[in-house]
Amino acid sequence: MSTSLIYHAFGLKGVEYQSTQPLGNAIIISAKMTEKFIKCPHCCCRYASFKGQKTRWFRMGPLGRKQSLLKLHIHRLKCIACDKIWWPQLPFMDGKHRYTRSFASTALDLLRFGTIKDVSNYLHVGWDLIKDIHKSMFQRLYRKMPINELKYLGIDEFSIRKGHKYMTIFIDLQKGRIIHAVEGTSENVIQPFLKFPARKAKKLKAVAMDMSRSYSSAVTEYLPSTDIVFDRYHIMAHMNLAIDTLRRQQQAILTDNDQKALKGCRFLLLRNYESLGQDFKVKLNTLLDINEPLFVMHSMKEQLRLLWSQGKHQRALAFLNQWCFDAMMSGIKPLGKVALTLLKHKKGILNYFPHRITSGSVEGTINKIKTLKRQAYGFRDMEYFKLRLYHLHCQGYSLTG
Ligand SMILES: [Zn+2]
Repeated sequence: MSTSLIYHAFGLKGVEYQSTQPLGNAIIISAKMTEKFIKCPHCCCRYASFKGQKTRWFRMGPLGRKQSLLKLHIHRLKCIACDKIWWPQLPFMDGKHRYTRSFASTALDLLRFGTIKDVSNYLHVGWDLIKDIHKSMFQRLYRKMPINELKYLGIDEFSIRKGHKYMTIFIDLQKGRIIHAVEGTSENVIQPFLKFPARKAKKLKAVAMDMSRSYSSAVTEYLPSTDIVFDRYHIMAHMNLAIDTLRRQQQAILTDNDQKALKGCRFLLLRNYESLGQDFKVKLNTLLDINEPLFVMHSMKEQLRLLWSQGKHQRALAFLNQWCFDAMMSGIKPLGKVALTLLKHKKGILNYFPHRITSGSVEGTINKIKTLKRQAYGFRDMEYFKLRLYHLHCQGYSLTG
């Protein structure tokens, strides 16, 4: 071991190697500060005398299969020009941590291949320490979120805990990345963020969202010149919800035999017809033969999907009007309700045609969020959880936890 080796292997600058001592599963490397980096923080004088000393311990990256610790003797310094006294800054450290930068880099490298738990076990440190290292990296990375080039924004929500707390996410639809996340879904929760695109995103053209009122009124207020697009994916979700309501209503009034046919058919009704296998298509057709309201509902759903392939705004308008008329005339209550909702939000639904955006493209992101949510740490440290959300676009499906 030498001064040169600890400089090249562990990035220890301004340190002179003294000795090495094995201790159990660790190797202790003793060293002292050199005078190379002495500089008075007050007058920049490079000459100082020693005024007291202490020993500090730092964790470094592993040495072979053993952990390594740095035992460093540091002198307190007194400037010979201005008499000011100070403890020197260590050039291989960030803040007051008890580990070196090279240790943090090693941990971050390992996190690319394993979970926080794996890495903390391998490096013989606590879970929280590795999490903090990970978190500081994200904080540096996502201190500023560039939104100057933002053209299409998506607003979506998901539940943090089953059925309880919700989180709103703002997505750059072109890049498919989350640019902001906030707990809650109400208007005053999302307002503070909307002020940023209002000032900085000069190229913003449209915002895709659910038909929920809190989002659209906030967007209208803060981004008045931006189009609101009611998202295709969410509209179909409303339709599916109505199908499910009808299915349950029908189940309650059917005879035992027909009830049996309806059992376990939920996904048959909700899936896109062409994506069903042949067996399932037969099963669905049998089911629709015996129940007329469900048959009407299902064919109306399949028809509604065609709205977005109408090509032009004018054709789509005619299509939507006709669809809503048919739906209301069907006499099926949940279907009529969907028609009323769609008519009320007609402008935003048809805004799809000039922009052609949908947050359905972030479905992959939502799936990744589900994986992330399953990992308990998200709820212990909300800021870390949000930072992980901002990093999702860089990540494959195997998330580290
Ligand atoms: Zn000085």
